[in-house]
Amino acid sequence: MSDLPLLVFGPRSLDYDFGSTHPLTPRRFGPGIELLRAVGAEPGLAPEPATDEELLTAHTRHYLDVVKRFSEFDHGWMEPEAGIGVGGDDPPFHGMHDAAAAVAGGSLRAIEAILRGDVEHAFHPGGGLHHAMPSRASGFCVYDDPALAIGRARREGLRVLYVDLDVHHGDGVQAIHAADPGVLTLSFHESGRYLFPGTGFADEIGDGPAAGTVANIPLEPETGESAWLGIVGSLLPLLAAAFGPDVIVSQHGADSHAWDPLAHLRNTTTAMGAAARLVDSIAHRTAGGRWLATGGGGYGVYSVVPRSWSLVWLAAAHREVPDRLPPAWRERWAGEAARYGTAALPTTFVDPPNAGDPASRSQDVAERQSSATAASVRELLVPRLLQAAADRGWWDPLAGADGDRVGRLAEPGGSAAPAIVTGIDRATWERLALAPRVIAPATAGAGHALVAAALAAGARVTAAVDDGRAVVGLALSGPGTDGVEELLALGVAPPFRRRGLAGRLLAEHVGGAPPGQTSRAAIGAGERDVVEPLDHATRMTIARRLLEGAGFDVSRAPDPIGRLDPRSISAVRR
Ligand SMILES: [Zn+2]
Repeated sequence: MSDLPLLVFGPRSLDYDFGSTHPLTPRRFGPGIELLRAVGAEPGLAPEPATDEELLTAHTRHYLDVVKRFSEFDHGWMEPEAGIGVGGDDPPFHGMHDAAAAVAGGSLRAIEAILRGDVEHAFHPGGGLHHAMPSRASGFCVYDDPALAIGRARREGLRVLYVDLDVHHGDGVQAIHAADPGVLTLSFHESGRYLFPGTGFADEIGDGPAAGTVANIPLEPETGESAWLGIVGSLLPLLAAAFGPDVIVSQHGADSHAWDPLAHLRNTTTAMGAAARLVDSIAHRTAGGRWLATGGGGYGVYSVVPRSWSLVWLAAAHREVPDRLPPAWRERWAGEAARYGTAALPTTFVDPPNAGDPASRSQDVAERQSSATAASVRELLVPRLLQAAADRGWWDPLAGADGDRVGRLAEPGGSAAPAIVTGIDRATWERLALAPRVIAPATAGAGHALVAAALAAGARVTAAVDDGRAVVGLALSGPGTDGVEELLALGVAPPFRRRGLAGRLLAEHVGGAPPGQTSRAAIGAGERDVVEPLDHATRMTIARRLLEGAGFDVSRAPDPIGRLDPRSISAVRR
């Protein structure tokens, strides 16, 4: 296996060209690839067109036929269709089908190299065409290469985390995979109230069994680097730990930058590079290192995009970021940059704090609002146990090894009844193994370590123990800061479900509470079996029945959570 990430670029990358006045211009590959070469990257995979059969895994036959028809375009007039039209965001051009299919082919061949184990990471800067829909072009995107790459991994039975850092909502990828609980799409973007495509609000969380596998964080205009990076860091590691992906696909559009001409965030290359490093560490922590990074938008062709691409590649190469841009690179591109309106090229890979802008009251207000939105999404979609563990410092999703305390399970349907043990202490817990899929996080070893840390911090644990050793059911309450304890987790391993075990476990657990103890619980779309989730409504019906059976009063979650997901519930037992 090569140590360096596979860089996807070739002659056909330049063919995806909507014309000389279009913002998404192949001119970006000149300074972009040359700076990548300067930091040590060398293109290792030249994109060739994906086959129709491959494109049909995400797009309709009719749409492919429309794109092929527009491929014959030659400076005339053609009636607009399927999002493609003269003068629009996606104007037709000669060879459009092959050029767009080659972008798709680049991402498909790259993920196949990762799945074969040829490389751990690949970076396709020309990819990331995340707006393309099954039957129409949208937002400079004809075929949805990230969605196609995700689909390719799904056909191997792998679970995929998609992280979209472009300033625009990753609507196409979301639409194509929203119904699949094996794909978690997570998009950070400027709010659709202000920016194309006008979607990606916090209440878009997925439906049915896939509820909780769509995550959107709409950000206010003017949100800057520290708020942006803090928001990414508050959600990505916890959602990844809960979901347990086998592979990560990410989109690194550079248009969240303060200097981008098409959008209104105030991000920096500094924060973009740090976010790419976070994705890398999560890929190693949770996905066996399997990570495909793509480019995306970015219209600061000389001032931002080349640096952003290099920072993504350096993150994937596990290499330090050089301080200064090579003088030869700046000399080479200064003239062309000036001709296209960029008066001066930056001198360093990372930006000055806040992109050199002074702090302002309006930016502060915007960042508070963005952070509040992100906090609501976290409350809505991260399992309660992981929220508490992170907030109370019990457990860091990015640190340490998880150990290997995964229990051996009795055969499904086995008749032995697990023993319910209340008041588990730390010494007892250390002798027990935790079966898979009892509680979050997705890895039982990580779950065991988390429960150990929770016990050390005063949590109360009741377990269903099979064969004297394997924990196949668990209820955990954490001490509240206000004297009210919170039920943070309740779960049973798949072979032991549907036997009333969760109800017995919860009854014993609340029965073991100190007299007069008030307890509360909050159940949202984050509480689910991530491998085989039930329908969202069914999950909530079961949770409600269990809580009511144990003496809790159950109601709709208070706003803003209840407004974002009216199925979310809140419960209290006095
Ligand atoms: Zn890595």
